[in-house]
Amino acid sequence: MADQLIRATAAEGGIRAVGVITTRLTEEARRRHQLSSEATAALGRTMSAGLLLASNMKREGSRVNVRIKGNGPLGGILVDAGLDGTVRGYVDNPAVELPLNERGKLDVGGVVGRDGYLYVVRDVGYGYPYSSTVELVSGEIGDDITHYLVSSEQTPSAVLLGVLVGTQGVKASGGLLLQILPKAARDEALVQTLEERAQLIQQSGFTSLLHEGKTLAEIFQQLLGDMSLVILPEVQMVRFHCGCSFDRVLGALKMLGEAELRDMIEKDNGAEATCHFCGEVYHASSDELAQLIEDLRAESV
Ligand SMILES: [Zn+2]
Repeated sequence: MADQLIRATAAEGGIRAVGVITTRLTEEARRRHQLSSEATAALGRTMSAGLLLASNMKREGSRVNVRIKGNGPLGGILVDAGLDGTVRGYVDNPAVELPLNERGKLDVGGVVGRDGYLYVVRDVGYGYPYSSTVELVSGEIGDDITHYLVSSEQTPSAVLLGVLVGTQGVKASGGLLLQILPKAARDEALVQTLEERAQLIQQSGFTSLLHEGKTLAEIFQQLLGDMSLVILPEVQMVRFHCGCSFDRVLGALKMLGEAELRDMIEKDNGAEATCHFCGEVYHASSDELAQLIEDLRAESV
């Protein structure tokens, strides 16, 4: 199944549902950053969450940054996701490993850490990003994003995130977001039904369903099929994408100024820069650095 995002409504528009498959893009992140299984699961879940959060923004070009900083050995996680379906991200310590947890699963809460913060920054492109911070609940990420939506955005929500990692890489990755819309937010029976349904899907193993080849539409059917479910026809493709480029790297090098550039030419015979977000390595030769010095001189005249 190609990576994709679909939207649906249920309960006469009282429930908004979004599902995303991120198997390939999580595998791409694993390869790019040489992530351990635990780091793959943590970053994959956070990338799915970023895409789900970005999916309800309205204005073209809107983006969401999700930063998780727990007290575990993974360090921080940073994800940047757009309404356009692009996402990128990294973790501080990609090689971290821990034994499986008591349920026999990858110990995401253990590597992330249970004490710390989740920061969400929504940028709709007006230059005034809206940010909020909540404390981590479990470090498992799904619970933490749910807590953020309920406490910060006052929207009754359920978030399921999962990554299935095998010896050959990512077997399945994705997420589901279910929200009660404001007009139905006081409908306590509906809120309760939603929580029960989310638990059911969690018990049957959301990523296992994806791995078995179930489509998002089939999973929505299973979850909300008896609640006047309407699946929107648009299937949005999602992918790992980073906007970095050699030109941007040169631009950043140029800002260092002539003395620093000269030093790089003499000591290192060039410069090397790695993009945090995607792991791409850029090399600038001595000649290219010399050209930057010439540009700087020409600009200062
Ligand atoms: Zn990059």
